Order: sequence, then C-alpha cells, then structure tokens
Amino acid sequence: MPGMDKVNQWLNFVQQLLYPPHCLLCGGAAVERDLCAACLLDLPHNPVACRLCALPLTAQEEGVCGFCLKQPAPLDGSIIPFRYAAPLDHLLLGLKFSQQLPNAPLLGGLLAEAIAAREEALPDCILPVPLHPARLRERGYNQALELARPVARHLGVPLRAGLAVRLKHTAAQSTLEKRGRRANIRGAFALSVEGGELPAHIAILDDVVTTGSTVNELARVLRRGGAQRVVVWACARVP
Ligand SMILES: [Zn+2]
Ligand SMILES: [Zn+2]
Repeated sequence: MPGMDKVNQWLNFVQQLLYPPHCLLCGGAAVERDLCAACLLDLPHNPVACRLCALPLTAQEEGVCGFCLKQPAPLDGSIIPFRYAAPLDHLLLGLKFSQQLPNAPLLGGLLAEAIAAREEALPDCILPVPLHPARLRERGYNQALELARPVARHLGVPLRAGLAVRLKHTAAQSTLEKRGRRANIRGAFALSVEGGELPAHIAILDDVVTTGSTVNELARVLRRGGAQRVVVWACARVP
C-alpha cells in the first residue's frame, strides 16, 4: 500500500518532534542511529583484521593472524566491524546483561551497514548463536537473536534461528582460558533441521567474539551437516 509509506513517514516525523532521539551512550542529541556525533566518532573500529577470524591486526600485518596461520579457523571469513572496547562495550554489556534491548537495533544497524559495505555475496540465511534453554529462561531473550533481527531486515537475508540448538549449559566462557574454552564448548551444539538440508551458505551471528571457540564449534557442526560456506558476523572482537 503506497499510501502507508507516507503515513509512516509522517508518524516518524511527529515522533521525532515529540521525542527527539537521545544518544544511547551519553543522553545527548542523537544524529544518527541513536548516537550523538561525538559517540559515533568514538566507536572503536576494527579496520585491519584477520580474513578468517577478524582478530585485529596492525596495518603492516594484513591477511591472516598468527593463530589462523597455525590452525585456520573453520570459517570462510568473518565480518566484525568493531573491537571490544569503550564506549561500545557499554552497549554490548547492557544488551547482554541488563535488558537494554533498545541497543539491539542500533548495534544491528551498525553491523548491517558494515556487512553491506563489503559488497560480498550474502548468505542464504543467518543463524544467531543459540542459547541453552536454561540460560534463555534466566535472561528472557537471546541477545544474538535480538541483534540478528535488524541485520536480517536491513540486508534482506532470512533468519533461521531454529537451525541449531545448544545442548550444553556450559560454564560462562569468560571465566576460562583459551584451551579450556575449546574443551568446554565441544559438543555444545546440534543441528535441528527437520529432515531438510542445511542451506549452503550460512552466516553465524553473535554479539561478541572472544577467542572464537563458540562460533568455531558451531561452524564445525554446520560443516559436518553439509554447509559449504560458513561465515561469522559479530559486533565486536576481543583483541
Ligand atoms: Zn553520545
Ligand atoms: Zn585469524
């Protein structure tokens, strides 16, 4: 209905007049995507990163990181536009632990923008990293799914949150060293495709990638299930 667009535009206009958008970080006047100009400039970008796991690299390094040289991440690539640092960490922590759901459209929008700028072939679907049902009950939502919704909408890629399930209620990954994380996460995911085949090209979506053990384990499961191309999309990479 073409008339509805006009009505929506008008409603947006009225809403902006009555409730001018505030920066989600400092409360100042927002200019773009719920951030003010200063906070937008402060975002910790990740411009030079490993082609496979998106670990931040120095400008001289380029290509693949030292970890992936020794043992390549089981991924065809990662797009993680930011480093996990202030002030972005505040938005991510709020989304994950403090029910700050309005942060999801902002963070998802920023991620979608970065993905679109790469002009790479888009995947057949997006799979947000599943939460264990017990963790989901405790938190009330899956922050990866909340982020995936706006990304799917912006890019026009289907969301397939039901492709995989989390079997293990693992200890919080953040309390473990890298070696322990890999053991802790092994066997944590299983496919749940109902008789159908897996899409050929899947993007795993998470909020933050720390050592990569979670997304790598999920990627292994998808590959074993027949996926041909698996990439990771996330907001922030821990250096
Ligand atoms: Zn601000
Ligand atoms: Zn790497």
